Amino acid sequence: MTEPKRTMSPPVHLTDPYNLDAEPVPGCDVCTALDKQRMEAREQGRAAAAATAGIEIANHLHKKRGVKR
Ligand SMILES: [Zn+2]
Repeated sequence: MTEPKRTMSPPVHLTDPYNLDAEPVPGCDVCTALDKQRMEAREQGRAAAAATAGIEIANHLHKKRGVKR
């Protein structure tokens, strides 16, 4: 009887609210490792682990180009 309030939220579909498909930065060891983890997690069906890796890639801050140690 009571219709739940519907907003614009789509059905649960594993969309990317956290940019889970963030592109790893080429040449970044951390991103490369995380990307590998993400792929492996996906292959193993571990969605949460894949999501975590994706979030970490998205959150991995990079110095602007030209900054070298
Ligand atoms: Zn990185």
